[in-house]
Amino acid sequence: MSLTILGCHSATPRTSAHPTSQYLEINNKRFLIDCGEGTQVQLRKYKIKFSNINHIFISHLHGDHFFGLIGLISTFGLLNRKNDLHIYAPTGLKEIIQLQLKTSNSWPQFDIIYHELKNDQSELIFDDNKVEVYTVPLTHRVYTNGFLFKEKIGERKLNINAIKENPEIEICDYQNLKNGKDFVTKNGTIIENKELTFDPNKPLSYAFCSDTVYKPEIATIIKNVDLLYHESTFLKDRQEIAATTKHSTAEEAGKIAKKANSKQLILGHFSSRYTNLDLFKQEAETVFDNVVLAKEGKIITVDNKTFATELTINQ
Ligand SMILES: [Zn+2]
Ligand SMILES: [Zn+2]
Repeated sequence: MSLTILGCHSATPRTSAHPTSQYLEINNKRFLIDCGEGTQVQLRKYKIKFSNINHIFISHLHGDHFFGLIGLISTFGLLNRKNDLHIYAPTGLKEIIQLQLKTSNSWPQFDIIYHELKNDQSELIFDDNKVEVYTVPLTHRVYTNGFLFKEKIGERKLNINAIKENPEIEICDYQNLKNGKDFVTKNGTIIENKELTFDPNKPLSYAFCSDTVYKPEIATIIKNVDLLYHESTFLKDRQEIAATTKHSTAEEAGKIAKKANSKQLILGHFSSRYTNLDLFKQEAETVFDNVVLAKEGKIITVDNKTFATELTINQ
């Protein structure tokens, strides 16, 4: 699983900082999460193929989380994209995008499929044979969701050495073994599946918790998540502003990570009031150990055997 940070700052523009957007690869599936202004330029900069983007998740309809969408859709049109584009976003986004396409008379030749979100309970919104995605209802100034991405458990792995000791097992039997079935020899002896296979890798999970006040209830939805992104717009010196603007502090993000028993916490959505971002890490570390700061171009990779995490800065 790998997560590329395309933008991680809150709304006010700066010379070298983009608003929220992330690119997630999980179990060979690829997702774009939020699409702040300039996301298509960031995708180019970090060499992410536009054709990899077929599913876009938008947390809420504040501009710093979706103003890049119409630009990206327009570029897809110029590039003669044919694949359907699925957009999972709060009700209202369809109207905004369709109006822009209509007034500019630039209807794309591909289909945009809108999955409009309005439920205030967690729900399954994407499900295939590799990954499932649930909403994480948040509390902000407008209707907002985070998203929980979970790998599905894979097939069992063949123990080739054990299989070789049983010459009756042929290649055509392998799929049954991967599916967990025992092997029955010609004379009726049952060889248990666990003697011929290994357990599949433990499935990984990633939770993206966008703009929100401190909301400890979400910990049950994202319990034991391997990697957690949680916004931390402020430090606790501005706790009051955090509460009135419905944002979180770094300490509160740390508390969520701890309560959810997450393995690692990524902080982001930093307010432009702060110049020393290390203070965010220090504050969160007073309650939770494994904290990293989001940074444009940072790639966070989680290995599902060792759970080792690697960081790469890709400038
Ligand atoms: Zn925001
Ligand atoms: Zn917001």
